[in-house]
Amino acid sequence: MNSTAGNRSRKDLACTRDATAFQKAYGKELKRRVVENGEHFVLAQADTPHEIFHVMDIPLVSNQWWSAYISAKQLSSRYFSAMTEAGYPENSCRYCSLGLACTLANDPGSAPWGGLPKPCLLVARLTCDCIQQVFTQWGEALGTEFFPMEAPAWEHKDPQWFSKSGHAWEQVYQADRIELMVKEIRQLIAVLEDKTGRRFDEAALGKLMLRINEQESCIREAAELVGSARPCPVSIADQMPNTMIPQWHRGSDWAVAHARKFRDEVADRVSRGVGIAENERLRLMWIGAGVWHDPGFYQALEEKLGAVFVWSMYMPFAGPQYIREVRESPLHALASRICSMNEVLHLPPWMNAWMTNEAQRCGIDAAVMLVPPDNRLAQSGTLITASALEKEGVPVLRLGADMVNASEWDHDTMVALVSDFLQQVGLK
Ligand code: SF4
Repeated sequence: MNSTAGNRSRKDLACTRDATAFQKAYGKELKRRVVENGEHFVLAQADTPHEIFHVMDIPLVSNQWWSAYISAKQLSSRYFSAMTEAGYPENSCRYCSLGLACTLANDPGSAPWGGLPKPCLLVARLTCDCIQQVFTQWGEALGTEFFPMEAPAWEHKDPQWFSKSGHAWEQVYQADRIELMVKEIRQLIAVLEDKTGRRFDEAALGKLMLRINEQESCIREAAELVGSARPCPVSIADQMPNTMIPQWHRGSDWAVAHARKFRDEVADRVSRGVGIAENERLRLMWIGAGVWHDPGFYQALEEKLGAVFVWSMYMPFAGPQYIREVRESPLHALASRICSMNEVLHLPPWMNAWMTNEAQRCGIDAAVMLVPPDNRLAQSGTLITASALEKEGVPVLRLGADMVNASEWDHDTMVALVSDFLQQVGLK
């Protein structure tokens, strides 16, 4: 077992293999459409209104997916060195900029798809100080336009956002912020119609939003089952692909059907008392993005310590963040989904309130928190969330490492750190 390069994760669920096979086929189809056919496509951040691109049938490359894809191919160190050689600071943030680094390295021989072709538009919300720089410079490098979207300040601080977001979204997310997002989404639609010749249909968006509610309700049920079952029936290594791959295609027939299949397979495992570890003794919470270059990390202590990662943000986030009662205007419901997507995951009081509530709901014994050294946003709420969890009796290990940059990661060292931490806090 090579301690530096990433370790594959074990997949326990049949539907996980279906999801990864679907995404592989989709990647091929996307490549055929945008590379071979030269179709217009959009490159966008994960917290932008993907529903608009889907409903207009405009192919989408999500930056976080592309970044994780490059990282999983163990290419991050090569491209970040190229970025430093190009004069960028060593401590540039990583997650959103790995795609830019790949473009700047300009090495078709190693790059996925021979490198990303030119998108018709780049889209990102200005959720941190760096994103504008990353996307502006990427737009220049690719010779295309960057469409920035606001991340308006959020004065209404309701820590219990997750219990009201589906039905009281106007109050939770502030009507003025939602109006601003709707105005910007309408501007985005006009730009897309002009560039692609495709037309936007608001009634079709309304139907898509209802299908998305169906999909996310199934994922929410799976999250409730996993949180309450003993032993834990599904590792986060299975939870992530079964949540995020449908999320990239949310509301499509495949995504809704897959969410149902996933929920059913989870329910079946719970009814048969199946557990991911022989002898489950410790229930862990993973806080932060996935470690895309070492997916086997989460399962490393299952045998040795009976330590299982029960929780990561992706699956439990589906319900409170995506389900919306759709009333007269589907655009307003969509805007309320998008206008705080990053904020609730990374900023207090929304992040810490939700995560302490989730720790209680899932009977968590300890948490491991990814603290990427150079990622400003991903660090914002970490200290407050760590202290909030500790106040609730959940010890927290903060791991100084990056979700996509493998050059600072050693599998065995990180596993030993977690193992020592669990011993130190008397959880052995
Ligand atoms: S700080 Fe984080 S969110 Fe901001 S651009 Fe960098 S990686 Fe992205």
